[in-house]
Amino acid sequence: MTLPIIQLGNPILRQKASLVENIKSDEIQKLIDDLITTVVSANGVGIAAPQVAQQYRLFIMASRPNPRYPNAPEMEPTPMLNPTIIAHSNELVKGWEGCLSVPGIRGFVPRYQYIEVEYLDRNGKHQKKQFSDFLARIFQHEYDHFDGIVYLDRLENTLDIITELEYQNRIVNNT
Ligand code: ZN
Repeated sequence: MTLPIIQLGNPILRQKASLVENIKSDEIQKLIDDLITTVVSANGVGIAAPQVAQQYRLFIMASRPNPRYPNAPEMEPTPMLNPTIIAHSNELVKGWEGCLSVPGIRGFVPRYQYIEVEYLDRNGKHQKKQFSDFLARIFQHEYDHFDGIVYLDRLENTLDIITELEYQNRIVNNT
């Protein structure tokens, strides 16, 4: 089932999310399935539970080339529950991001180039992974949603905001 995505201005998007406790419950397992359906149908590369007004520390990474991100690397939609960043590079790199909760614009956002993370998978099994570049960016973007942070809060300068149309014309078509 596709879930409605809340948008910037909805106060729920600015609240803190809680740890997921009953990972194997029908409620959480259905939420995971619905988040995957929702992010794929919206051409997202990630979605966090707070974006569908569910205050859980749960997100899906679902990078793949699609009309909104033609150059995204391919990965299976991967649910991550109670994730944490256990190490990161000192280096920050800037890259373009959008957000399904902030439609119509893109921002050039600084993020850690490399991160090491831990999370529980949908079976409650502990996982440890390393991500760099675009995948590290997705993780950090989704993780911020747990703290009520959107990518606009991370911008160095409002000049780093452009419209979706200009993004498609200037950035995607020139790379
Ligand atoms: Zn987002």
